[in-house]
Amino acid sequence: MTSLINSLDTDKLSFYRTKHHFEKYGEFHTVDEFIQYCQWARDQAVRLYVLGNGSNVLFRSRKISSLVLKNKLNQDIDALGGGRFEISSSTQVIDVLRYCYAQSLESFYYLSSVPATIGGALAMNAGRGRQQNMTVYDFVESVTFFDVEQNQIKTLQSTDIVKGYRQTIFTDSQNKLILRAVFKFDPISFQSDPILARKKWSKKVQDYSAPNCGSVFKQADYRILRKLEGLSIGKSAFSKKTTNWILNKSKSSLPIRFLISMAQILHGCLGKKIELEVIVIE
Ligand SMILES: Cc1cc2nc3c(=O)[nH]c(=O)nc-3n(C[C@H](O)[C@H](O)[C@H](O)COP(=O)(O)OP(=O)(O)OC[C@H]3O[C@@H](n4cnc5c(N)ncnc54)[C@H](O)[C@@H]3O)c2cc1C
Repeated sequence: MTSLINSLDTDKLSFYRTKHHFEKYGEFHTVDEFIQYCQWARDQAVRLYVLGNGSNVLFRSRKISSLVLKNKLNQDIDALGGGRFEISSSTQVIDVLRYCYAQSLESFYYLSSVPATIGGALAMNAGRGRQQNMTVYDFVESVTFFDVEQNQIKTLQSTDIVKGYRQTIFTDSQNKLILRAVFKFDPISFQSDPILARKKWSKKVQDYSAPNCGSVFKQADYRILRKLEGLSIGKSAFSKKTTNWILNKSKSSLPIRFLISMAQILHGCLGKKIELEVIVIE
């Protein structure tokens, strides 16, 4: 097992593109491999993190001592019949959407511009904003995962998984690896390409001028966040175009953490609630 765990210096594991020294990095291609990593982490008393595409993670320090494991399970979409599909967690969200569009099926097309894996989207309850109340779980029947603590593969219905806005039993828990999920997509006829339409919308409304992880906070006071637009520290800044986005050109995550702290302190001083959406990995 130790031969599969390497150290790695890279800026490719988070969409903020900050550079870190990962002391323990591994990739799993099967559940058995993942189980071996878990056993090793337990023996060494090391914390373990599962990574999808890293589009919602902030690595805290230059040196990351946790075991960071990239999901390299097979990418599969299996048609089960009756509009039901079993999709593996490593499959890219955009590939599912292209598949659905090609087959004239309804889907979560609003995630067309989101660079996520299905596992990451299921862990984060990815979707549209609070007002729209639409998430990937609108299409999920069940999710199958490996429970590290109980050393067992389990399947749960979506009602037992979703805990709230961007919150599931998998958020903040590194004890469960999502393996696959069953989705139900109903037939629909399209007048135009919904993927293209969403990509055009996001280009117009969202700020892609520098690396970012989308929304930083899942709960915040937008009047305060709007006041922070354009505020920069070093090579990181709150976007002037998209509220609640931090754009980053720094190789260090320190400026991002400063910006986050400033927003948190301001909310604290004004007695407003604020909660991070981005997952922080140590
Ligand atoms: C440009 C941009 C736009 C975005 N827009 C949106 C948006 O509109 N809506 C939205 O909801 N989000 C959005 N995001 C945030 C992000 O893409 C989502 O949170 C996404 O679901 C994360 O997927 P990922 O595969 O990159 O997961 P990662 O960022 O790698 O991981 C996120 C969390 O999921 C966990 N995780 C990942 N895979 C698994 C697995 N197989 N089993 C268990 N846990 C797992 C990780 O441990 C981590 O806690 C955006 C991000 C970007 C960069």
